[in-house]
Amino acid sequence: MAGRRQVLKALVGGAAGLASPAWVASTMAGAISLAPRLAPARERAPGDKASRDVARAAPPAVQRLTDNLVLITGAGGNVVALTGPDGTLLVDTGTPERTRELLKTVAMLPGGRHVPVAFNTHWHWDHTGGNEALRRSGTKLIAHENTRLWLGEPIWVEWQNRRYPPRPKEAWPTETFWTGGQMTFAGEPIEYGHLGQAHTDGDLYVHFKRSNVLAAGCVLSVGRYPILDYSTGGWIGGMAEATQRLLAITDEKTRIIPGIGPVATRADLAAEHEMLAALQEDLWQLMRKGYGAEDMIASGVSQKFDEKWGTPDLFIRQAYQGLYAHVREMRGVV
Ligand SMILES: [Zn+2]
Repeated sequence: MAGRRQVLKALVGGAAGLASPAWVASTMAGAISLAPRLAPARERAPGDKASRDVARAAPPAVQRLTDNLVLITGAGGNVVALTGPDGTLLVDTGTPERTRELLKTVAMLPGGRHVPVAFNTHWHWDHTGGNEALRRSGTKLIAHENTRLWLGEPIWVEWQNRRYPPRPKEAWPTETFWTGGQMTFAGEPIEYGHLGQAHTDGDLYVHFKRSNVLAAGCVLSVGRYPILDYSTGGWIGGMAEATQRLLAITDEKTRIIPGIGPVATRADLAAEHEMLAALQEDLWQLMRKGYGAEDMIASGVSQKFDEKWGTPDLFIRQAYQGLYAHVREMRGVV
């Protein structure tokens, strides 16, 4: 694992080394606009501006999905809670500065005072912020092994130009896996699995099978281009594959909870997959012609998607870095 990490870092570092100063400057500008200086640096999560805005606004709100499954918004990233006689299971734990409010909200759910299990869909701090507090009260924290590794080491997120210190040991997942697993909680059969190298390299989904609700983490992005956190193993090809995998386990009636934003449908997921697959190919073709990220942006390559997905600049810069790191999987550039 350490070896693969080194390779990843070397590849990403290599790509950065070839970037022009203009690229670096504009990326930094993008990062600054993504992270207004309103919170201490160590409390910011990468890439998830919307969640940080929400975290500063309203207190957490509960949206009922089924009799015992709810979506909690306003705690940073979305938190899904399944309640039952043995307590409450959570998917994601919000942002650090909202932990108190989140736990207060969870405690008001039936059986919510005890949280035996919580998943982390990936390492970003707006999805792992409550880990320490939960673990201190005995919660089993389940995540992909890569999420545990990221939480345990310092991280430089290049596209934010920001360093994240290791999280204290109490924040680390207590149970990790490589491919997936299943369990039953409150009578609900639950399946969870790794989504490869997508938004990060530790993304997982949690599928509540009887309720037909899927927690997709930040692999699903609604109404804006997804974040491809190439600094911790995300890339556009992996996102295209991950969305394809989620399409395979959902149907028209599945309610899909993104990492941030409102409840979505399979049609939203399909639209994202289509955009990712098309742009993966188009950007790669441009890369073969020698285009850099800024040339790609200037070319208007994403134009037909921009109305639905917004300003593409950061997405294209991230996609470029990821394609560069995965150039062998793209059948080579030269
Ligand atoms: Zn994230």
